[in-house]
Amino acid sequence: MATVETRALTKRFEASNAVDAVDLLVKEGEFLVLLGPSGCGKTTLLRMLAGLETPTSGDVLIGGEVVTGLAPRARNVAMVFQSYALYPHLSVRGNIAFPLRAAGAHRDEIANKVETAATMFGIQSLLQRKPRQLSGGERQRVALARAVVRNPVVFLLDEPLSNLDAKLRASARDELQQFQRRLGTTTVYVTHDQVEAMGLGERIAVLDRGRIRQLGTPLEVYHDPADTFVATFMGSPPMNLMETDHVIRGFRPEHCLPREVLGDGGEITPFALTVTRIEYLGADRLIYGTLEAPNPAARVIARLPSTITLPIESGKRYEFAVRTREIKYFDRETGLKRAPTAA
Ligand code: ATP
Repeated sequence: MATVETRALTKRFEASNAVDAVDLLVKEGEFLVLLGPSGCGKTTLLRMLAGLETPTSGDVLIGGEVVTGLAPRARNVAMVFQSYALYPHLSVRGNIAFPLRAAGAHRDEIANKVETAATMFGIQSLLQRKPRQLSGGERQRVALARAVVRNPVVFLLDEPLSNLDAKLRASARDELQQFQRRLGTTTVYVTHDQVEAMGLGERIAVLDRGRIRQLGTPLEVYHDPADTFVATFMGSPPMNLMETDHVIRGFRPEHCLPREVLGDGGEITPFALTVTRIEYLGADRLIYGTLEAPNPAARVIARLPSTITLPIESGKRYEFAVRTREIKYFDRETGLKRAPTAA
């Protein structure tokens, strides 16, 4: 267990900074997720933590010690990639034992540790198999088992679940979280999938173009986004944004409801919505529409739980509303969160 810290960490490729002066402090034992769109610098940042990429400037600290110049092996971190990179010619046992053999561990120690790791991930019965005889989920567990046998102080995981189908991904997420809690090993996890980030992370660092836009708990980044980038990157569908003269107002689709179902319970901001399209998602109904004055042509998406059975038809106009306290305000120039203002 150790803290992981970066100080003004920067990586420049050709003309631009893939990672741009990032200051980050991952607490001891924390599960931190690096989240952002493709190309925002997540993998490059993780590789610099691992020592696989040399920073252009800035420092990496593990357990309070500067490790910027140290080779990956000397950092005692374990990295698991999207591809798992298992050795195809080795059995599961051989794969898990590999880092211990490479470090010159004794035979008995190797046998013990392989056994413990295999038990932890429920793969004891697979030890004789080759990687090609495993499912994607089983391969992932082997890769994780191989990562834990060295007792690393930090786990660095780069989209390790992206090869799994949706159902398996959900259970693998659950497993991963349980084993991380059990081991208490500081973990940095890269993903572009916000659902995964929300479900796994104790805190999420949202990245955009090499910079951290916001660092907070899943609830903070979702309910109190620091800027319009975070507001629209988190949430599916994203936050609705409406530009007025000096300010951008935002509200989540689930807060936009037919006026009559909002009832009493605080001040509301009503508006007329002309419905253009309806999507049934099972548990929810998405209503796409356009607003009338004072926001001509602004597009809005409302998310109605299936418990609201009110008939709504495309092409018609309805009274919708948002509770005023659910409205977020952003500066029109900078996109940054700002104090509420009169409409
Ligand atoms: P993805 O989710 O698509 O993997 P990412 O957020 O992990 O994206 P990075 O792989 O860190 O993004 O890349 C960040 C930026 O740096 C990209 O614009 C990429 O093209 C660039 N980049 C990455 N590696 C190199 C390299 N070796 N040489 C030049 N540019 C690179």
